[in-house]
Amino acid sequence: MPRSHYDVVIAGAGHNGLVAAAYLARAGRSVLVLERLGHVGGLAVSARAFPGVDARLSRYSYLVSLLPTKIVKDLGLRLDLRRRRFASYTPAGDTGLLVDNEDAARTAASFEAVTGGRHDLAAWERFYGMTAHVARQVAPTLLEPLRGRTALREVVGDDEAWRDLFERPIGEVVDERFADDTVRGVVLTDALIGTFADTATDLLANRCFLYHVIGDGTGDWNVPVGGMGAVTAELAEAARRHGAEIRTGAEVLAVDPDTGEVTFDDGAQHAVTAGRCWPTCRPPCSPGCSGRRPSGPRAPSSKSTWCCRGCPGCRTPPWTPPRRSAAPSTSTRAATSSPRRTRRPPRGRCRTCRPPRSTATRSPTPRSSARGCGRRGRTR
Ligand SMILES: Cc1cc2nc3c(=O)[nH]c(=O)nc-3n(C[C@H](O)[C@H](O)[C@H](O)COP(=O)(O)OP(=O)(O)OC[C@H]3O[C@@H](n4cnc5c(N)ncnc54)[C@H](O)[C@@H]3O)c2cc1C
Repeated sequence: MPRSHYDVVIAGAGHNGLVAAAYLARAGRSVLVLERLGHVGGLAVSARAFPGVDARLSRYSYLVSLLPTKIVKDLGLRLDLRRRRFASYTPAGDTGLLVDNEDAARTAASFEAVTGGRHDLAAWERFYGMTAHVARQVAPTLLEPLRGRTALREVVGDDEAWRDLFERPIGEVVDERFADDTVRGVVLTDALIGTFADTATDLLANRCFLYHVIGDGTGDWNVPVGGMGAVTAELAEAARRHGAEIRTGAEVLAVDPDTGEVTFDDGAQHAVTAGRCWPTCRPPCSPGCSGRRPSGPRAPSSKSTWCCRGCPGCRTPPWTPPRRSAAPSTSTRAATSSPRRTRRPPRGRCRTCRPPRSTATRSPTPRSSARGCGRRGRTR
């Protein structure tokens, strides 16, 4: 053990512990990070999950939105975060609702096919115009001391947005603004991920929703190349570069708030003292801690990560681009006149949701499921 006293001891080397360690060490503090597992990253880790497939995929947490660009710059992180073309695909009857970030006409056609009109598409555009405004206004405040209601309302600067996103239950607002149940479900996904909150009554759902639409001022949910483990490996590297000490396989057993003593076990028991101790995990730490989990909503989600060269066949009819002019370009003509366009795509090569070839084998493909959040350009 190099030293017996640290300015700060951090329990847990998930992304929050690592960011804190990097900033504190950068500010000249002596920092010790203690991680129970044999590796850093917490829920943000990668794995080569499939034998014979040389791709590192996120094991749990898998998309990045709430990591501010400022932190990436401050800590000099080298990350490759890729924007997804397809926000979501939600099967509905014999078709499905496809939100294509790069093709407004295709998205509009999909809305029309699923909802039978243009009402919900217009509502969608108005609604997400409003969340985009809120994202731009609120995201910068996430790195500042938390503001009170009045101060945040001033930051938002839009009474309708404040009322509909912060004050009224989000389920009520979505019911009012959208007519189609599939569209309502896609919008509300962001209010439900990770909670059992009742969207009709519980403002916890609003909080969940807001976290999903304001990340870094855009609300984009990007795919980290190399999986989330690539992000936390960079964070750990930054923390070490600035002088933080990270010990894995070291479980914090207790923290004594009176003496600042932190007891941990890495095969043998040790104690160090700390000016401050920050547990980034559920409290294991203080003497007298009951170890009981806090009551509240349980996480209902289940997720799966795929690695494939194309999207499995889905039931949305193949897309035929509209003619742009009386004399279409050769490529448009070829696309619209090809008899193969009308055939159902073979399994594993769905034309409707096929990701760009360049990224198909490098990152998980967009999900074909109702869990996709479905916003234009920002989903997880
Ligand atoms: C299935 C799933 C998918 C998710 N998807 C996303 C997503 O796509 N994007 C997103 O932004 N968020 C996602 N989240 C949420 C995200 O994973 C968490 O918000 C994030 O991991 C929290 O980071 P953290 O550093 O606070 O804690 P954690 O990642 O939980 O890290 C805590 C660390 O503390 C360690 N630890 C625990 N007890 C002790 C102890 N006594 N002593 C020492 N170490 C200890 C743990 O081993 C762990 O490494 C997802 C969560 C889940 C469960």
